[in-house]
Amino acid sequence: MTSVASGRTLRPPRTGRSNGQWAVDGREPLNPNEAFKAEDNGLNVRERIETTYAREGFDSIPGDDLHGRFRWWGLYTQRKPGIDGGRTAQLEPHELEDSYFMLRVRTDGQALSPTQLRVLGDISTDFARESADISDRQNIQYHWIAIEDVPEIWRRLEAVGLQTTEACGDTPRAFLGSPVAGIAADEIIDPTEVIRTITSRWLGDPELSNLPRKFKTAITGHPSLDVVHEINDVSLVGVVHPDLGPGFDLWVGGGLSTAPRLAERIGVFVSEADAPDVWHGVISIFRDYGYRRMRTKARLKFLLAEWGPAKFREVLETEYLGRTLPDGPPPAPAKGPGDHVGVHAQKDGRFYVGAAPTVGRVSGTILTTLADLVERVGADAVRLTAHQKLVVLGVPADGVDVLVAGLADLGLSATPSSFRRSTMACTGIEYCKLAIVDTKDTATAVIAALEERLAGIELDQPIALHVNGCPNSCARIQTADIGLKGLITTDDAGESVPGFQVHLGGGLASPERDEAGLGRTVRGLKVPATDLTDYVERLVRRFVDQRTEGESFAA
Ligand code: SF4
Repeated sequence: MTSVASGRTLRPPRTGRSNGQWAVDGREPLNPNEAFKAEDNGLNVRERIETTYAREGFDSIPGDDLHGRFRWWGLYTQRKPGIDGGRTAQLEPHELEDSYFMLRVRTDGQALSPTQLRVLGDISTDFARESADISDRQNIQYHWIAIEDVPEIWRRLEAVGLQTTEACGDTPRAFLGSPVAGIAADEIIDPTEVIRTITSRWLGDPELSNLPRKFKTAITGHPSLDVVHEINDVSLVGVVHPDLGPGFDLWVGGGLSTAPRLAERIGVFVSEADAPDVWHGVISIFRDYGYRRMRTKARLKFLLAEWGPAKFREVLETEYLGRTLPDGPPPAPAKGPGDHVGVHAQKDGRFYVGAAPTVGRVSGTILTTLADLVERVGADAVRLTAHQKLVVLGVPADGVDVLVAGLADLGLSATPSSFRRSTMACTGIEYCKLAIVDTKDTATAVIAALEERLAGIELDQPIALHVNGCPNSCARIQTADIGLKGLITTDDAGESVPGFQVHLGGGLASPERDEAGLGRTVRGLKVPATDLTDYVERLVRRFVDQRTEGESFAA
């Protein structure tokens, strides 16, 4: 693999005026969002939550904190129930907003012990009406959180080494780490220490808590390339240097949303010892040189599109590291699926077992029962994946069957159908204030219907179905075989109904495709939600009937 298609060319910023780059233009805020960040660091809101808002209640929270700084601690207000998607764009944000919160807990690729799982499950049961979703960034997301309960939730989380620090906001968001770090027999390099060093040194560092926009990190040493490295702001991907041995290849500037762009290789080899400083150099470049004039052009991908990899490398080496880095090789093509579903041998003779909750949805009871199950079979821990799945680690040989049966009882199949395995859905209209349509329930119904209708068809490769509730891309629609973007459309009777625009043919590096590529919109096609199962069934049947041997869905 030498390169990836970069997707749409991003328009460079205008010259001859300030683009809000601190290192070039100074720190004068150019828009209200930058002004609010300059006025008071988002991290400072925690003290006010603990001393005032949790005691005095929702109505005591001023707007700048409620809609801005709360994100620095993983808190967003959730959507008021019962407001249909057709009204999302018509209402003011406060009219859409409930007095409850979504709370995001980051795991940063760490292995969750039974004790940690129990704490996560108990918080869901005690404070979140049993809600708990595994996100595609290895977070646990709760809903129905009342501000009064937040200090107690932090106390419980932090007592077991979990946190919501910088889980949202213009910060270093949750790290994606290989779910099989340190245990897979075919691992190139274990990224655990690198992630631990970076997060312990720099998470919650005020110097890195006012970035131009969010900053996403992915680190893996597994040959399945299991952390979607092409769509993160910075990624370190395991490679073997012919002279220097195992280390990482550096990728920069990926991101989706409404202006998708795939990350590019910078061309350097990063040793395990250098990795923390290199990460710090990249995020510092973003802080200092990122464009802050317009939020829609602030992600690192816009700077990389302007500079190109060669200039980015030069600035990294000369201004931030003070030394050159060796040239390095690209990662080998992906080996095996990166969702880790199924039973696999570890390097120590035990096993890891990947299982698929449907579209990432679990619950407090499922998490606590899972903790009991992990202990009962003598396994070690659980990691979450970048595909809304989970992996049980360190399962003794004589515990595998009991574990697989116990997981199935919890709705966590280790042998899911192709669609249950490869479908992801974002939060959608159930809780998200930006949503136009339902996603999780819609996707769940489509999966169940397809399992029945296509029961006789053997798919020898997964067909990824990703469902988004609005034009943002929280469920990565541009990198799915079939990506669905929520909108309001008209049905045959001319009525306005929830529906989806269709993107086809996207995908990240996998055994089926050497290179990542972004899907293309099917122009003019808008599928009402009620017709979605029929549409996907027709697509799959046509693919199965017409494909030539070895042809992938993307082709
Ligand atoms: Fe909300 Fe849109 Fe993101 Fe879905 S894609 S979670 S609807 S912002």
